[in-house]
Amino acid sequence: MSTPNGDAGRSDALVLFGATGDLAYKKIFPALYAMVKRGDLAAPVIGVARSMWDLERFQVRVRDSIAQDGGGIDDEHALGRLISLLGYVSIDYSDPATLAALRGALGDATRPAYYLAIPPSVFETVIAGLGGAGLADAARVIVEKPFGRDLASAKELNRFARSVFSEDSIFRIDHYLAKEEIMNLLYFRFANSFLEPIWNRNYVASFQITLAEDFGVEGRGAFYETAGCLRDVIENHLFQVVALLAMEPPTYRDFGALHSEKTDVFKAMKPLAADDLVRGQFVGYQNEPGVAKDSDVETFCALRLHIDSWRWAGVPWYLRSGKRLPKTVTEILVELKPPPQKLFEDSWPPDSPANYLRFRLAPDASIALAARVKRAGEEFLGDQRELLLLDTQPNKESPYERLLSDAMAGNGALFTREDTVEAAWAVVERVLATHHRSQPYKPGTWGPKQADKLIAPNGRWHNLAPADAASKQPTQ
Ligand code: NDP
Repeated sequence: MSTPNGDAGRSDALVLFGATGDLAYKKIFPALYAMVKRGDLAAPVIGVARSMWDLERFQVRVRDSIAQDGGGIDDEHALGRLISLLGYVSIDYSDPATLAALRGALGDATRPAYYLAIPPSVFETVIAGLGGAGLADAARVIVEKPFGRDLASAKELNRFARSVFSEDSIFRIDHYLAKEEIMNLLYFRFANSFLEPIWNRNYVASFQITLAEDFGVEGRGAFYETAGCLRDVIENHLFQVVALLAMEPPTYRDFGALHSEKTDVFKAMKPLAADDLVRGQFVGYQNEPGVAKDSDVETFCALRLHIDSWRWAGVPWYLRSGKRLPKTVTEILVELKPPPQKLFEDSWPPDSPANYLRFRLAPDASIALAARVKRAGEEFLGDQRELLLLDTQPNKESPYERLLSDAMAGNGALFTREDTVEAAWAVVERVLATHHRSQPYKPGTWGPKQADKLIAPNGRWHNLAPADAASKQPTQ
């Protein structure tokens, strides 16, 4: 399977709504710089925002972002080329007449890509404005996350976007999908034959996926109050990981088939109920700027999922994520069932499965297969060992670089499709409205104790990744 190269025609201008914002500064300008260096961007880049900036101020902002957040300026010539591509238009979104200025800035461009790096509350206003001004014909729209905040709002945004743009012109970003380690999950599963015989309910005991951060809300309390952990990372990033791990092989070599298989995983998930979820809030969150003193928003969430399919019936999937946890790590642990007979005293180690696959996604990337190996001596006792299958080199290409390049080429492989987005929201629909209160947890711990109870019937959370343990003894 290869990613299509966008035979639909490359976008001949990039219009960046929200050009004065945080995301543009931290991620998008460095990505554009990298694209110019690679020879992947020669089209005009028009910054759009309400702020009454002139072009010179915008150019200074772009240069500053690359110097501060883009790893520094190492190619003045490329930076000069990027600066020469820039334009800036100030727009009042409530006055469609001001969009006329955008038409002038687009010049001869016939297939612009509009990137909405703006608060979601203005997505529909901008899409409507583009449609009303006749600026959407043959154009593409790239929509930042979150795509809706529940099933109803996602459906409404889809309906709205589809009334102006066709589905293959809408690019819904989940930047996780463009991470090298995530793309490798798909590759690893279907480029190898040894996995398939064991990749099912007969051999797999459970899945655990952890996305832990040792930092808090970092001054973004007001934003976090509107999101919470379930919406911010689980329903999108971790669900996409589940879909890649759980999906059936696509029946044909096209990314449309991949999207369909992922959608089927979400459709087979049992909708979550309140008891499937443990919500937590770190002590001190309510004192963060922008956070309500009586906030119940969760900064930690652990949940148990079931996928009602022939392959996965009866296999629990445990997902958790949180802020102010002991370390920053993203890891998948696939626990395999123990051997059927206890031939040796330690055949069934109490604290850890004898065999598991461990996918470390961040901060470093690796894949490990765990097995027990006999210790030298008379007794038949062993140690837990890991066969390290892969230790990837860091990818120099950032997800945003890849995503912008793909969207401008009309390649939707690494974006989410309308039905996939809605099927994922449907799984969490009930618990967004009906859930238990957030339980407090101390910063630097692995969340509230109730999360341990959630997993207890099937084992325990693996809080210390084996690669971190000096002795490489069984996981905790
Ligand atoms: P900002 O809050 O920085 O807003 C971006 C720009 O949008 C602002 O500079 C402002 O520009 C404009 N804006 C703000 N409020 C409004 C409003 N009510 N109406 C119209 N324009 C407004 O957002 P971010 O840059 O942080 O995020 C942009 C998008 O990217 C959001 O959808 C967010 O969810 C998503 N995102 C952000 C990430 C991040 O790390 N920041 C990470 C992942 C996704 P002006 O006033 O000049 O028009």
